[in-house]
Amino acid sequence: EPHKTAFRRVLLKISGEALMGDQGYGLHPPTVERIAQEVKSVHDMGVEVCMVIGGGNIFRGLQGSAQGMERTTADYMGMLATVMNALAMQSALEGLGVFCRVISAIRMDEVAEPYIRRRAVRHLEKKRVCIFAAGTGNPYFTTDTAATLRASEMACEAIFKGTKVDGVYDKDPVKHDDAVRFDNVSYDEVLAKHLKVMDASAIALARDNNLPIIVFSLDDPGGFQSILSGKGTYTTVH
Ligand code: UDP
Repeated sequence: EPHKTAFRRVLLKISGEALMGDQGYGLHPPTVERIAQEVKSVHDMGVEVCMVIGGGNIFRGLQGSAQGMERTTADYMGMLATVMNALAMQSALEGLGVFCRVISAIRMDEVAEPYIRRRAVRHLEKKRVCIFAAGTGNPYFTTDTAATLRASEMACEAIFKGTKVDGVYDKDPVKHDDAVRFDNVSYDEVLAKHLKVMDASAIALARDNNLPIIVFSLDDPGGFQSILSGKGTYTTVH
């Protein structure tokens, strides 16, 4: 049965940890390839796909600063970690025959394109996957904020946040059997109840730009494509 979707352009946000598989650190190539396959299946539906990948599997600014490193320096290291993850994803997507660009918020022209909004839009129109790397390019931000910013700039219809669980719960479903999943939840409720979706600045930016966040599980194969077709369980933050 053919998959149908109402979405024309979306942004997929995943954490760096989503790429490390069962290892405690770094990149697990079969896992990177599995996620690339998920992206390909959505791309094959004709959807224009942006991606933002975190860096937590390699380096987190807050951890570095807790160990005595200067915060801004540690944050730049975190941003560089996201570039490595983006390059790994680019390689996996190209291996599957999907054209793709890594676009960095910090200039490093030998490694990735600089971020020029109109150029990125053009790539999307030409059906190239755009992986936005180096976060927002600013310390004190996160890749969740970068995802919201780029999705707004690229006029994406929604952010798809791939996680380990199939939506937003009132408490951690891994620790609590009686945790209840929301089908829909408002930005304000996420902020007021400190629900674990994205950090507060990312939620506020999404709210101000009316950008829905769809939280779903990336664990089941074919999950991204099903969610885009409106199947399966997920939470819409709007
Ligand atoms: N970071 C930053 N500015 C940004 C995005 C990221 O300084 O705009 C740094 C920050 O130190 C963060 C690290 O990059 O800890 C990795 O990103 P993040 O923690 O968002 O990755 P994730 O948790 O999604 O893997």
